[in-house]
Amino acid sequence: MTHKLPCTLSTIGEFGLISRIAAGVSRHESIITGIGDDAAVTAISAGMQLLTSTDMLVENVHFRRSWHVPYRLGRKSLAVSISDIAAMGGIPRWALLSLAIPPELPLEFVDNFMCGFLAMASENQVFLIGGDTCSSRSGITVSVTIMGEQYPGMIVRRSGAMPDDDIWVTGTLGDAALGLEMVEGADSASLTGSRLPKQSPSNGTVDDSEFLINRLLDPAPRVSAALALAEAAVATAMIDVSDGILADYGHLAEQSGVGGCIQLVDLPLSASFRRHTAHLPVIPYHLALSGGEDYELCFTAHRSNREKIVDCVKKSGIAATRIGIVTSSPEVKVVNRDGRRYTAQIEGFNHFI
Ligand code: ADP
Ligand code: MG
Repeated sequence: MTHKLPCTLSTIGEFGLISRIAAGVSRHESIITGIGDDAAVTAISAGMQLLTSTDMLVENVHFRRSWHVPYRLGRKSLAVSISDIAAMGGIPRWALLSLAIPPELPLEFVDNFMCGFLAMASENQVFLIGGDTCSSRSGITVSVTIMGEQYPGMIVRRSGAMPDDDIWVTGTLGDAALGLEMVEGADSASLTGSRLPKQSPSNGTVDDSEFLINRLLDPAPRVSAALALAEAAVATAMIDVSDGILADYGHLAEQSGVGGCIQLVDLPLSASFRRHTAHLPVIPYHLALSGGEDYELCFTAHRSNREKIVDCVKKSGIAATRIGIVTSSPEVKVVNRDGRRYTAQIEGFNHFI
């Protein structure tokens, strides 16, 4: 019996891989020159400005191969960048993908990664226009640069929040952090990625577990909600929630020169989060406040726009919840229902600490 050797990157080499990637990308009228030349050439829509952002995903820092099947890793690599453009009220358009990969990585891994990346791209009308490819001696590094565009008047920055504005957040918070606890629990129990925890009778259903883990591994960038807010010109400032609402609202507040008061009980928690944590003596609010990777939008707006905001976010299939008020004093605090201060035990995720 003969065993076929698995096809690895070293079999096809850098240029073989680039051709393979190029073969899968879609074309668009905005792309004058795509993959293959020294630089890509794109046409920006008349009257719009260019938004650019870049993000790195490093193996064993941002992801584990045992949790992230390559397809979902591909999706998430682009999703987090799309979320940055959305957080500015921008229309995501073009992406560059740089990969550092160990030569022994099976080609199937890269094929599935690209399949996920390009699916996320097509779901958001983003086009891959270039990148860089090199070999790595220690794990996979993915770097995505994304470009978007928007009319100057519709771009929403972190810096526009005004005292007495409402603080809003889309969707629900803490799901990804709870999902992370679940996959980490599975890891420490030496389970493989395909055997993630499916059910624990007292802690919600199989569907709940899947929902929560999915929120971590396959986040959905809130592009349509962000564009609806930008078009309605209602958000005074906006940021995406990647490091936890406390840390990310903190960034927004700092850039705006304001503070904020967040109501603990108003934090939106999903039904899955509630069911899954129902057996605990207290609701683990710290996951909603300081857990990262929900990729929701946090924004501020004048109180006269409340109805408009609920309407325009609802059209995109998610909810928006008011969670607090912008204050003129620079401090950001979280309060309980009785007005007493809640001290979060853990700040948002911060590299190097
Ligand atoms: P250079 O030597 O000028 O850096 P490369 O050989 O790295 O050029 O790249 C050739 C072409 O392939 C370029 O258009 C580049 O943008 C594209 N490219 C390289 N790697 C990737 C990748 N991982 N994804 C998409 N396009 C890529
Ligand atoms: Mg290159």
